[in-house]
Amino acid sequence: MPVQKKLTTYLKFLAKQPAGYAYSAQQPASHQKASSSMDKKEQLDALYARYKSCTQCPLATQGRSQVVFGTGNSNAQLMFVGEAPGKDEDMQGFPFIGRAGQLLTKIIEAMGIQREEVYISNIVKCRPPENRTPLPIERTTCKELLLFKEIEIINPVIICTLGAPATQGLLGDSIKISEARGIIHYFKTYPVLPTYHPAYLLRNPSEKKTVWEDMQKIMVFLKEHTNNQQK
Ligand code: URA
Repeated sequence: MPVQKKLTTYLKFLAKQPAGYAYSAQQPASHQKASSSMDKKEQLDALYARYKSCTQCPLATQGRSQVVFGTGNSNAQLMFVGEAPGKDEDMQGFPFIGRAGQLLTKIIEAMGIQREEVYISNIVKCRPPENRTPLPIERTTCKELLLFKEIEIINPVIICTLGAPATQGLLGDSIKISEARGIIHYFKTYPVLPTYHPAYLLRNPSEKKTVWEDMQKIMVFLKEHTNNQQK
């Protein structure tokens, strides 16, 4: 069919469609970007609704009870990113609520912040069997489908990665947590300060002071951010 005829046919077809068809029909609704008129909480809810029964990586069929999404204040300045849900998180559906999570809550409160004021998520949203380290395919799939979008929506002032897998997930696989911790790095435009995972602190309590030093750097960073906003 000549191009001009094809175009005429398409224009006739478009004329019969509801208003806005040409924009909305490009992709299925589930792949459209959340409208900017939605607030952050609504955008997160829409994102989570899309992946509630996610089957995009091997963890979907390896015994998970549910997908454990991020939780907290969608307008948070500070976002924590961990590795993957454990047994308690898998059963109850919230990140960091087991022993390591309780220690994380204490750390946050010691910073003078309530847990509800920050946002807490993981690189991988489904529990790996026997709490094994998530595989590269699981990490890559999940962070691209969910974590990067959570970060974009929340737009935190600073991200604190907890442990090696979370740090490598945002900053690259070659980075070493022992060398990277306590220093501000960047994921895209987002400042990232890695520290040790609270589960590591439960096994190595003498490192608590190191993590506390890292948290103080975050507090200074947030204070400077607030001061600059007020100028
Ligand atoms: N460890 C993590 O990395 N994330 C959780 O949600 C719980 C424990």
